[in-house]
Amino acid sequence: MSEDKETLLAWIERDRDDLIQFLSRFIRAKSPNPPGDTLAAAEFVRSFLDGQGLTYRVIAPQPTMPNLVATFEGAAGPGRHLVLNGHMDVFPVSDGEGWTRDPWGGEVADGRVYGRGACDMKCGTTASIFTFAYLAKLHDRLKGRLTLTAVSDEETFGAWGSRYLMQHHPEVHGDCCLNGEPSSPHTIRFGEKGLLWLKFTVRTKGGHGAYTHRAVSATKIASRLMIDLESLGDIAAPLPANLIKAIDGAHDAIEQGLGQGAAAIVPKVTVNFGVVRGGIKINMVPADCTIECDIRLPVGVDKARVMAAIGQILARYPEAKVEEINSTPSSWCEPYGEMVEILRANVERLKGFKPPSIISLGGTDTRLWRYANVPAYVYGPSPASMGGPDEHVEIDEFLHVVRTHVLSAYDYLSRA
Ligand SMILES: [Zn+2]
Repeated sequence: MSEDKETLLAWIERDRDDLIQFLSRFIRAKSPNPPGDTLAAAEFVRSFLDGQGLTYRVIAPQPTMPNLVATFEGAAGPGRHLVLNGHMDVFPVSDGEGWTRDPWGGEVADGRVYGRGACDMKCGTTASIFTFAYLAKLHDRLKGRLTLTAVSDEETFGAWGSRYLMQHHPEVHGDCCLNGEPSSPHTIRFGEKGLLWLKFTVRTKGGHGAYTHRAVSATKIASRLMIDLESLGDIAAPLPANLIKAIDGAHDAIEQGLGQGAAAIVPKVTVNFGVVRGGIKINMVPADCTIECDIRLPVGVDKARVMAAIGQILARYPEAKVEEINSTPSSWCEPYGEMVEILRANVERLKGFKPPSIISLGGTDTRLWRYANVPAYVYGPSPASMGGPDEHVEIDEFLHVVRTHVLSAYDYLSRA
């Protein structure tokens, strides 16, 4: 390993307690979304950057959802532009049900840091922030440019966060994006499924519950419609050869990281009826039923294709109509790209295994870079506890993610 990389690892070892304390205090700077107010979390990150003498811009199209953007140029000559991206907002905590630790306490215990956002994704965002700070100290050894984007509004699709930056600030596009969302240290994510959220409404005249011969039931129609919608899972996804190779090659790692059965649904349309509401009283034939449906789109299947299939199904249900709530296309970039090779080499050196590249089931802001044709990769901690009670990150895993990001960003920027 190069002398610079040994130096970087020594700095991380020296700062071990500072890193853990940073993550703990970052969690205590509450930032649940909704409502998505990240002022406290951003203030905490700003005070760290200030303390390091690093300059940054605050870009806040929505005043309670600031985004921090910092950039430096390497002094060793021209090169590529790497963008580090992480979000500061986190899932909300409903009533604290199931938690045995304070969700906003940032408690350090049993080799873990606990709290909402420990895993998704203040661990990964901390890795991005320290990667930026460490590499800034070595900027005279680096080529090209490094940009840090610590953003808001990820949990609700980034209208005021990464999406705003990508639309209005092309200077954050870069040549490659690295992100530390929960992915499992055993995999690198080069793509993700898209989503299509739809609301179906069934309306009939309804009637008296004893007079079923005179009334058409909206809930019965809706239940038949839901069974028919399951057939969307049979839509075939034509995939390019390198994607088939990547998905097949990562079968075991996907099952290990995301649970048994996960590999089978990576290339499939999945259908979930998240909310179903119908009827108002037990002895009335329901006159209306609504279904909120969460469809996930694999690479190779777009919204138009699914909507065409839904149109054919709805032709059999004149009482039903559909409207779109939200949608994002799937995204992917080169599964064997340069950053993948860099990440794999560093993980192998640090941990002795080579994580394969996979497509994830859930979505992240990295899709926005891929939409702009910038390769974007996710390497972060295990997702097991994300969004649940007692969310946490193992300290060893957290430090491993920091080391991997720091060394990989260094490698990318020390090449011409
Ligand atoms: Zn996240």
